[in-house]
Amino acid sequence: MLSIVSTPIGNLGDITLRAIETLKKCDAMVCEDTRVTGQLLKLLNLPKKELLSCHGYSDPRKVDNIVRRLMEGQHLVLVSDAGTPGISDPGFALVSRARTERVPIEVIPGPAAFLAALSASGLPINRFVYLGFLPMKKGRQTLLHSLKDEERTIVFYESVHRIEKTIMELAEALKDQPDRPVVIARELTKMYEEIVPTTAAGLPAVAQSITKKGEFVLVIGAQ
Ligand code: SAM
Repeated sequence: MLSIVSTPIGNLGDITLRAIETLKKCDAMVCEDTRVTGQLLKLLNLPKKELLSCHGYSDPRKVDNIVRRLMEGQHLVLVSDAGTPGISDPGFALVSRARTERVPIEVIPGPAAFLAALSASGLPINRFVYLGFLPMKKGRQTLLHSLKDEERTIVFYESVHRIEKTIMELAEALKDQPDRPVVIARELTKMYEEIVPTTAAGLPAVAQSITKKGEFVLVIGAQ
């Protein structure tokens, strides 16, 4: 059995009861970074487990080995460093192979940063499009400029290293829609959580004033 388990995106209290039960009873855990998962087990006072690293998006030999263990009947848990495995994180290749091999799969859902940002944004979220991380080079400007015409709420991730540049590029891409709502969420569920509602016209000021620390999600209202 493969259990896909979501873990907190910052606040340890967001681990679910099912996640705890599953982490206790599994045979081993497939992790993005064994140090991060080892630390999570320690903080939650859970028993130590064998930790198998599978950090690439599709390392075929590692996936083969894990699938073999699943087919022998072991109960393995898939986690990422934070949030939901497969959401801008490794996991897809393993789940896909496990499905092909008809391994039983269960999912223990929980936090994902884009969902937390959407629900806190105050923007309409019945329909939205999740972009993951924007491409760094090829296709970046085309994508940014295509956001002008998007009729659904848009959500994407950004790292601290590029947040200022991305906010400024977004301001430029949306300059003909100065009232377009934008919400920037930083450090969700953590001590210094910050949720900044603004507009396209307000973005250059936010690029300067927002604390350049931690993790970011950007949400843009529909045009
Ligand atoms: N699997 C994760 C999920 O379910 O949200 C996402 C992993 S992705 C590698 C990491 C990115 O998610 C960060 O760069 C940031 O954009 C976003 N993120 C993760 N935790 C966050 C948090 N607590 N607050 C804001 N953004 C967060």
